[in-house]
Amino acid sequence: MICEDRKMIKREYKTVRERLFWSYANLAMAHTAVERSQDQYAAFNYMIRARLFKRLIDGTMNIRTLFDDEKIKLLSGQKCSYCGSKDNLALDHLFSQKYGGRDIGDNLIYACRTCNSSKGKKDLMEWMDSRRMFPPLMILRRYLKLIIEFCIQENLMDSFVEDLRNKNYPFNIERVPIDFPKPNLLKMTT
Ligand SMILES: [Zn+2]
Repeated sequence: MICEDRKMIKREYKTVRERLFWSYANLAMAHTAVERSQDQYAAFNYMIRARLFKRLIDGTMNIRTLFDDEKIKLLSGQKCSYCGSKDNLALDHLFSQKYGGRDIGDNLIYACRTCNSSKGKKDLMEWMDSRRMFPPLMILRRYLKLIIEFCIQENLMDSFVEDLRNKNYPFNIERVPIDFPKPNLLKMTT
């Protein structure tokens, strides 16, 4: 299973579509494992990932059919989406406005001033990597959805990942995670 898994990871992310959907399928896999408080991924988690990836690629499923982010945003209350602090909250743009991130609900989350200024205009994953952290799954999902919507709109889904390098997009496609930490190291929200 482990070898099989490594092969999949190597094979499936050459185009933007494959990379984004592979990451999204991993996210769904992680979601089911965290929900069940699993320490490790099991065969059925990998199966969920494989099926979802296939259906996203062949277009029989799309990301809109899966989740209801706005509801979750309301339920998780007013706290920093990165560290959980309830003090000095501000609205943070997931996609930096400097690179065209819009001032709309999908792109806005609560963040404390400390996280907000530390992140600045950096890509979410670049900032998280620099702090050796992995984002809460709900934030990662919102971030992936923004990237997928952006790439569909800009007709980038069938480009190769390398083609998006150094392009001043509000995200760095090469940072999009394709290898997720074990479920016991992940959380849904802060
Ligand atoms: Zn914070």
